[in-house]
Amino acid sequence: MRNLLDFDLAGLTRYLAEQGEKPFRARQLFRWIHQRGQSDFACMTDLAKSLRERLQQEAHVLPLPVRLEAAASDGTIKWLLDVGGDNAVETVFIPETHRGTLCVSTQVGCALACAFCSTGRQGFNRNLDVAEILGQVWRASDALASRFPERAGERIISNVVFMGMGEPLTNFDNLITSLHVLLDDFGYGLSRRRVTVSTSGIVPNIDRLREECPVALAVSLHAPNDALRDRIVPINQKYPLAELMAACRRYVEKVATFEPDEEDAVPAADAGWRKWSRGGSPRDFITFEYVMLDGVNDTPEHARELMALAESVPCKFNLIPFNPFPESGFHRSTAAAVERFQGALLDGGFITTVRKTRGDDIDGACGQLAGDVKDRTRRKERMGWRLPA
Ligand code: SAH
Ligand code: SF4
Repeated sequence: MRNLLDFDLAGLTRYLAEQGEKPFRARQLFRWIHQRGQSDFACMTDLAKSLRERLQQEAHVLPLPVRLEAAASDGTIKWLLDVGGDNAVETVFIPETHRGTLCVSTQVGCALACAFCSTGRQGFNRNLDVAEILGQVWRASDALASRFPERAGERIISNVVFMGMGEPLTNFDNLITSLHVLLDDFGYGLSRRRVTVSTSGIVPNIDRLREECPVALAVSLHAPNDALRDRIVPINQKYPLAELMAACRRYVEKVATFEPDEEDAVPAADAGWRKWSRGGSPRDFITFEYVMLDGVNDTPEHARELMALAESVPCKFNLIPFNPFPESGFHRSTAAAVERFQGALLDGGFITTVRKTRGDDIDGACGQLAGDVKDRTRRKERMGWRLPA
């Protein structure tokens, strides 16, 4: 059986062409699947009966099974999806006043072993395939449509962020195909600024993403110098900060050549964009994520160093209060330290937000995902999991 969630429109067009079907049939089918959330071919009434019957024989629209759905008191909804072998990945929906963001996973576990991340602690199990990535969007859209029938016809998921489990840029080809479907007018029709890929800094693949599908980019910085970043984001040993910053500059230079999307209103906060915005569109920037770890990366000196590092990159900062998990060895920075750090960056002319921690009561926050999944690699014992002195 062919899972049609595996295809972008070009792939679906090829698949149907093999059966002698015209490209417009692929567009019709693609819309049924992704815009109307239909998985039953019998209901796709504008397709020829013969095609419907053939599809019933040899294809399906099959997202991962839901092991658990949990709703937090703040409206955040989390789905735990079964990926087999006692493992699960998570998808989280975060409603806000003017948007609804879906946070999707790209891998079971993660190989990059960032010291403060519970997914990293699990070690790497496998990449998700395209149907497993897109199935999260399909599944969440379906569940949200049932939960909120009064919002029929509305775009409940307005933004998608690749900030769930795993490193999206090490599952590159599947990421790109999934992005095509999210951006396709016959698919989810999201503008490229409403889709964000978050990476810990796989430099060559930042360049590839820039060439192949330049959506919004978030970079998990977390440290202002190589010595500290080598310790808490170990991929830094391979792609150090100077190379990462250069890749970020190349990324923004490329996307700044695009026409602005009419659809995206400039947020009020953009009024304060720094001097570099003269060159391009003020909405093209890198979001630097910075997890606030008590006593590790949150001092005024770190803030100064960070500003010097980021000076030449069109960027904004998003400070993330650390979400603790058992035996992490880290503590969340105090509210006073976060405020001081944010104040320093703002004074330096950098737009800086502090991420609200959402879904706390269902462990839906960053770095806490699928915490009950088995650690198959015994990485914890192997590595001792204490921050090196
Ligand atoms: N692998 C990608 C995307 C997934 S992680 C990346 O690292 O960017 C999404 C974000 O959550 C990253 O910025 C990551 O550093 C952050 N994160 C991981 N563990 C966290 C924790 N325990 N508390 C807060 N943020 C965390
Ligand atoms: Fe992987 Fe991202 Fe976690 Fe690092 S923070 S271990 S890259 S998921």
